[in-house]
Amino acid sequence: MTKNSNHNENEFISFEPNQNTKIRFEDADEDEVAEGSGVAGVGAAQDESMCDAEASDVADDTTSADYYFDSYSHFGIHEEMLKDVVRTKTYQNVIYQNKFLIKDKIVLDVGAGTGILSLFCAKAGAAHVYAVECSQMADMAKEIVKANGFSDVITVLKGKIEEIELPTPKVDVIISEWMGYFLLFENMLDSVLYARNKWLVDGGVVLPDKASLHLTAIEDSEYKEDKIEFWNSVYGFDMSCIKKKAMMEPLVDTVDQNQIVTDSRLLKTMDISKMSSGDASFTAPFKLVAQRNDYIHALVAYFDVSFTMCHKLQGFSTGPKSRATHWKQTVLYLEDVLTICEGETITGTMSVSPNKKNPRDIDIKLLYSLNGQHSKISRTQHYKMR
Ligand code: SAH
Repeated sequence: MTKNSNHNENEFISFEPNQNTKIRFEDADEDEVAEGSGVAGVGAAQDESMCDAEASDVADDTTSADYYFDSYSHFGIHEEMLKDVVRTKTYQNVIYQNKFLIKDKIVLDVGAGTGILSLFCAKAGAAHVYAVECSQMADMAKEIVKANGFSDVITVLKGKIEEIELPTPKVDVIISEWMGYFLLFENMLDSVLYARNKWLVDGGVVLPDKASLHLTAIEDSEYKEDKIEFWNSVYGFDMSCIKKKAMMEPLVDTVDQNQIVTDSRLLKTMDISKMSSGDASFTAPFKLVAQRNDYIHALVAYFDVSFTMCHKLQGFSTGPKSRATHWKQTVLYLEDVLTICEGETITGTMSVSPNKKNPRDIDIKLLYSLNGQHSKISRTQHYKMR
């Protein structure tokens, strides 16, 4: 998917922990980091795409058509996620360093993929783990569980969490890696909330239990020129009708921290253990203060997740100041180039909601204004992540 293009050549240099949070960030070796693998991104999934369990059971029979609607059946996407050490190591550390959360507990792994989180939990002494996976990868997970001698502890169930029957009335822990681009793309959070409402015991644990969306603003003339203005004249022809479309699609890419012009604001925090499905639609105000004189071409959204039930708070950020992850950041280009002076503020609101026709897509409405010395602008823009 083209969304995997690299924004910046030195994207894997900006590994400093985000100073704005107290979360402990993982510090694995640089050369272990998952580089853009060219594999169709997490966002390649279409509606129903994550759950095509009816497709061919014989691996050799699968064609690209199967993967088009079921990208999680292919190992490539799992390779990308597993090699994202910020992501996978954080889950591993949370489980291994907080065995009291897992030991002798019944665990439900929502969207188990290769079964990695279930294996971590089994190793940490879980009484039993139910690993639910709707894609063809469930067959591999079964084999992996067996190959590693955990068949008596881990039960892999192939099917949608919304459709399977769990052989236990309640679970003590729900673990899931459900986060999509812009946190909410793909809307897998709904499946986790469904499982929580149906099976989690009172006082049970959801891992992770907090997720926050943040916003900042960047200078990005070169890339905006390349991705947006490009359509103005393509081999001498006016293709600017495509430019309007390109503007509406947030770009998933890695932003260099040197491009950041303003401070960063928390847009929304979600408490996965308490929230309802409707809370994933929201309108949040923001105020971004320029930290230097510069131009602003785009707003950038990113998220962090945390595991507050740990003995010591653990989690990770996908922000431009943190070590790169496969989620990168989400860039929303502005119609206007804002000329901003240090201390001036961009104020506005961002509204986020699942698309009505396809709830895996996200509609974003952005209102922003700047009443500065050089720029006086107030505008509304609509974006659609698909
Ligand atoms: N837990 C694995 C995979 C995470 S990716 C890991 O951490 O590496 C999310 C996985 O959830 C995908 O494999 C996808 O096929 C699966 N999934 C998404 N929605 C699901 C649903 N409703 N029911 C079951 N599995 C689902």
